[in-house]
Amino acid sequence: MNKKTIESVNVKDKKCLVRCDFNVPMSGGAITDDTRIRAALPTIKYLYEHGAKVILCSHLGRPKGEFNLKYSLKPVSVRLSELLGRPVVFANDVVGEDAKAKVAALKSGEVMLLENLRFHKEEEANDKEFCRSLSQFCDIYVNDAFGTAHRAHASTAGIVTYGFAHTAVAGFLIAKELECLGGAIESPRRPLVAILGGAKVSDKIGVINNLIDKADTILIGGGMAYTFLKAKGLNIGKSLCEEDKLDLARELIAKAKERNVKLLLPIDAKVAKAFPDPIDAEVPFRQVDINEIGADDMALDIGEETANFYAGEIRSAGTVVWNGPMGVFENKNFASGTYSIASAVADSKCISVVGGGDSAAAVQQMGLADKMTHISTGGGASLEYLEGKILPGIDCLNNVD
Ligand code: ADP
Ligand code: MG
Repeated sequence: MNKKTIESVNVKDKKCLVRCDFNVPMSGGAITDDTRIRAALPTIKYLYEHGAKVILCSHLGRPKGEFNLKYSLKPVSVRLSELLGRPVVFANDVVGEDAKAKVAALKSGEVMLLENLRFHKEEEANDKEFCRSLSQFCDIYVNDAFGTAHRAHASTAGIVTYGFAHTAVAGFLIAKELECLGGAIESPRRPLVAILGGAKVSDKIGVINNLIDKADTILIGGGMAYTFLKAKGLNIGKSLCEEDKLDLARELIAKAKERNVKLLLPIDAKVAKAFPDPIDAEVPFRQVDINEIGADDMALDIGEETANFYAGEIRSAGTVVWNGPMGVFENKNFASGTYSIASAVADSKCISVVGGGDSAAAVQQMGLADKMTHISTGGGASLEYLEGKILPGIDCLNNVD
């Protein structure tokens, strides 16, 4: 997908309305993790260094369409100012008198932040008049919030699709998602190996369906593997199974065969008698061949043979797209499958893209994040992207001529 970026337009002296993802975790009024603010810095710096009037906007939490101090973006403006080492003007409203006055006074090279967009219910409702109001702060619209790009809200799409912003470009974060996530599935270095795991087949039907058309090899792990194994006639004991997805699993297996896509399933597993409760509780477990899962066994991770077998495929991959952990990685006894796969991806020379909230968390937790080419920042958005869906927040941006 060839979308224009901030580098392809002249931003000098222009009001640039930048949709950011400042939806940071907060506790007692303090920001507990400023990763998302840091991630936005390159786009913000580029804009003020090139003489733009930088007007930032974002949502924070779910304030349900009305002012609520708990969800104010004020602490974000303070943190942002510290990180940038320069003042950040904060507007106490979104499109009200304070915002208007502060935008009018804003000089080229200065940065300001509007109050939480979701203090207006019109934001999520994608209300046309609200889009019109926002557009008074916008000569150039910049979207840099990948995490909300799958939503058609006023600030993520409506302002452009209603025709209020003609120049609409990607910031560096979205540009990187398009280059990495988009590149990995649209024009991959082959072979393209998709690693799919996570809890349920039903969560990932769209992803499997889309990737079957694009990948050369699909490695299946996680809870979803057992629905596939049962569909092939194996005993899976008490392992996670979606009975109503058995036919679908058979269809996917047939579709892969028809297209000459290697769809691989676990050959061994780590099993316990019950799901650990709490999730990190120590429970007895053993490793069994996939044909030897007992009636009261629950498979909670791929076994070592599977991990080695999958690692071999990963070593010879040109590109790896990974969504979904291989096991219940929250428990140390069932984390080794995910760890082995993450290490294999880290050691491989392939282009590696990780999408999905839990998969990203697993890679981070294992300290391998910087060994991946790209970890997608949007959980829901990256999943929809992998499903081949059109994301409104990206679709609305100007195409490269
Ligand atoms: P992502 O957020 O990366 O898309 P998912 O949300 O689909 O991933 O899946 C993550 C969850 O899947 C984890 O909480 C993990 O414990 C669970 N899971 C993985 N393997 C199994 C399994 N064999 N049985 C039950 N749950 C599993
Ligand atoms: Mg998840």
